Amino acid sequence: MVTHPMKPGTYTVSSGYGSRWGAFHAGLDFACPVGTPIYAPADGVVVQGKDRAQGSVSGFGSWIWLDCQASVGKDFIFGHVHHPGILVKAGDRVKAGQQIGVSGNEGKTTGPHVHAEVWGSPGRTGGRHQDPAPYFTGATAPGGTTTTTGATVSTLYGIDVSEWQDGLYLAGTGVDFCVIRLAFGASKADRCAASHAKDWKTTGKPVSYYHYLTPWDAIAAQADLVKRQWDACGRGGGVWIDVEEPGITRAQVVAFRDALRSRGVTVIGAYSRANFWESLPGGEPTAAEGGGAIWVSHYGQQPYGPIRSIYPGDTASQWSYPLGDRKPDLWQWTDRATVPGWTSGVDANAYRGSVESLRALFTGGESATTSEEDDMFTDSDRAALLDCRAMLQTLCAQDMGDANITGPYGGWPQTGGRTRTDTLAAIAAKLGVPGTTDTKEN
Ligand SMILES: [Zn+2]
Repeated sequence: MVTHPMKPGTYTVSSGYGSRWGAFHAGLDFACPVGTPIYAPADGVVVQGKDRAQGSVSGFGSWIWLDCQASVGKDFIFGHVHHPGILVKAGDRVKAGQQIGVSGNEGKTTGPHVHAEVWGSPGRTGGRHQDPAPYFTGATAPGGTTTTTGATVSTLYGIDVSEWQDGLYLAGTGVDFCVIRLAFGASKADRCAASHAKDWKTTGKPVSYYHYLTPWDAIAAQADLVKRQWDACGRGGGVWIDVEEPGITRAQVVAFRDALRSRGVTVIGAYSRANFWESLPGGEPTAAEGGGAIWVSHYGQQPYGPIRSIYPGDTASQWSYPLGDRKPDLWQWTDRATVPGWTSGVDANAYRGSVESLRALFTGGESATTSEEDDMFTDSDRAALLDCRAMLQTLCAQDMGDANITGPYGGWPQTGGRTRTDTLAAIAAKLGVPGTTDTKEN
């Protein structure tokens, strides 16, 4: 059990974890007056605090960074803190519930708040950030009572499909997310992958993919096939490595992860059963060796039934049983779920968290930005950068040679009637490059 970093009634949640203004917001914001106390969520060691120079953390101004890996397997970051009010320094040991500092308005902010981040193993260096909201929900308030404020955990339900579900209209199933099989080994491309992906994407809901790894096919050939299938599906989410075929070794899992990454394929993590993962030849892999996240398969004795009604619950013990060094991100709890449009059971999966955090998990959102970029840009900076990105995407996506010049200004309609030269000048002007002006706008 962790302790909430803020006392109930001293803050309001002003921004959640997830996509924001075209970037990724890696934490949870607690709006509060400058000087509001901040408490350590768990026992740990201070990585940086008073010792880190005031205002030196890009975007955050000043921060407190706690390493609580030994107690709860997390690092905690608190940004925009008031430097003169920081009570701890590097190397200090802190106890859960101990005050470590006070809130401030330092760095790039639009008002006083504390920006809180939670990082999984091995920590802020090498780990990935996680949605703090589920983590702090139900946390003990500093002083001993249970919080009633803060976001609640939501449970999202999804199915995984392969060509065995040929003919299932995915968009009509009403589930929250979908995982689509790309291939089995090196020679078996799932014949329904692309059509399933096209069907599902009409919902706009999160999607990811998986590959059934075989020990007898060459790693490179399997990775090539996955890459082709992933492209054919139009991507939109990363790939899980399905580790369940007897004979697979730990080394093969790692080699396959690397083979996918070297081909530009986003790897989310590994799918496996706990006892299989633990007994892989070569030893139990870390979660990172499987690609980062953990999708555990563990079936109980559920009867057939609608997917939401047969779920064992967010507090089921399987959620707290780690594979390697990581507790499950996704849990496949049965193959007996029923969904509209299909007469037999399908594999059912649950995710605890928001749609935004699931989307981040599926798309590898951890690499979109680093946490220090949080709040570095004003709204007008963001608008200009998004404009620039749109123009660059247009330039890159099309062969816009001068032969294609059309429009009233003798330019490309796709970049607002600008010529190629003028488009580049407009991008430079929006980025504030000295001496440049947007000739079309001026
Ligand atoms: Zn923030």
